[in-house]
Amino acid sequence: MKPVIALVGRPNVGKSTLFNRMTKSRDAIVADFAGLTRDRHYGDGRLGDREFIVVDTGGFEPTSTTGIVKEMAKQTRQAVAEADAVIFVVDVRMGLSGQDHDIARYLRTANKRVFVAVNKAEGMAESPLLAEFHELGMGDPIPISSAHGQGIRSLLDTVLDSF
Ligand code: GDP
Ligand code: MG
Repeated sequence: MKPVIALVGRPNVGKSTLFNRMTKSRDAIVADFAGLTRDRHYGDGRLGDREFIVVDTGGFEPTSTTGIVKEMAKQTRQAVAEADAVIFVVDVRMGLSGQDHDIARYLRTANKRVFVAVNKAEGMAESPLLAEFHELGMGDPIPISSAHGQGIRSLLDTVLDSF
């Protein structure tokens, strides 16, 4: 079985851009993944000879400004439940937000291995701005730039090595 990796994070952090990088495709492939719920955005990824399935989640938008966890779309919960690992995507330019902390709190209850990918960090591999993401308590934040293709291989190595 290929491992299933879910991309989770608040709106606009770059999850879909990362999805496209990881799958090198804009097309979700849905029909072949028996047993997985079919109304999300699935794609096939590969790093060397290691294959995986990646799930983009768009459903994290709260319908109100209160309680993202409460309002979190069922879809995202299902994606996390089905996943073997979660890439929690945050945005170095916006910094840590209350929503990020809410999502982190939720992910801790989900009992999955979680990797924090700090996106929009083009040219910032050594930036002190990365440090605040340690506060999430989910391991070393991994700087990436989905738009510019930086750090993606290293992120995927870290995730895939955990299996
Ligand atoms: P999503 O809502 O989390 O799926 O985010 P999107 O993938 O739709 O991206 C939101 C915005 O962030 C878009 O304008 C992207 O072009 C931009 N974006 C995504 N990744 C990067 C990145 O690595 N660097 C920069 N500077 N912008 C990015
Ligand atoms: Mg998206």
